[in-house]
Amino acid sequence: MNARTPRSCKRCGKCCMADFVAYVTDEDIKRWQQEEREDILRIIDHEHAFWAGDHLLSSEGGRYLRGCPLLVWEGDHCACSIYDTRPQVCVDFIPGSSELCPQFENLK
Ligand code: SF4
Ligand code: SF4
Repeated sequence: MNARTPRSCKRCGKCCMADFVAYVTDEDIKRWQQEEREDILRIIDHEHAFWAGDHLLSSEGGRYLRGCPLLVWEGDHCACSIYDTRPQVCVDFIPGSSELCPQFENLK
């Protein structure tokens, strides 16, 4: 397997510690507005999360965020509670494509 070979997602949730609110786009927001997903929009407005190098912080008091608030645990693996309408950055993330993912292999 090389660095370009697709890897399967092990549903560990580590990428969901980084790729959420800080990278939500205007298109994501518009889609959620059209879908009347007030539940998601409320979370976005409330958390104001930003990426602080290796973890998410809430800009409201600097509270440590233990990953995306839309991540849920199902026994020994995680799932996205808004999978069908998750942010584009989450759709685009390829398992193993960054050091965030335990499947990452640097074969330079
Ligand atoms: S870090 Fe990799 S294996 Fe874990 S959930 Fe994300 S894509 Fe899947
Ligand atoms: S929206 Fe879903 S896929 Fe994206 S970071 Fe949150 S839990 Fe993970």
